[in-house]
Amino acid sequence: MRIVFFGSPGSGKGTQANELATGYSLTHVSTGELFRAKVLDSTRIGRRIGDTIAAGSLVDDITANYVLFKAIEGLNRFLVDGYPRNVAQARMFDVHLDNMGTKLTCALFLDVPIEVAEERLILRRTQRHDKVENYRRADDAPAVIHHRFDVYRKQTKPLIQYYSDRIIKVDGTGSPTEVTHKIVKALRKWE
Ligand code: AMP
Repeated sequence: MRIVFFGSPGSGKGTQANELATGYSLTHVSTGELFRAKVLDSTRIGRRIGDTIAAGSLVDDITANYVLFKAIEGLNRFLVDGYPRNVAQARMFDVHLDNMGTKLTCALFLDVPIEVAEERLILRRTQRHDKVENYRRADDAPAVIHHRFDVYRKQTKPLIQYYSDRIIKVDGTGSPTEVTHKIVKALRKWE
């Protein structure tokens, strides 16, 4: 099973991706997590990625493709969360998988109304990996949220059309458990 998982910021894809990866024994690859780890390196490229994330913009396609392709090397069962973020990445991913003699099983889209997603983002706190205190992700700052939605609408949403032949749309409203049930039900026909 090879799945890409996408949705707007605040759609809950990170939470759901964790659940599904565990439930289906898939390797969970989150490009957001991979990039946040690179920021901690304090290298020139790490700082550049950190600035891009903090601004709510997308890391360039060459870097995103490179990081993702390396992360899935040798894997046959994976769930990718946060990639592709635009149609150019999706095309490159299809070409890459084709060269590897494989293809995606499906693209899972978590559908959440923008107002609900925005509200969730504003409230979101994540646990810092090295500290006990709660903190707000830099890109969850109210000023950046607006830009992230703009990027989503212009660049990521067109993936719905691109993946129209293999998309599974799931209503992402409700409690995390309810959403997981809906996804599992929707995935049954692709297993
Ligand atoms: P996420 O955790 O998926 O919300 O990603 C956090 C940030 O990492 C995004 O706002 C982008 O700046 C960057 N990012 C993650 N995945 C990608 C990608 N596939 N292409 C470009 N930038 C990405």
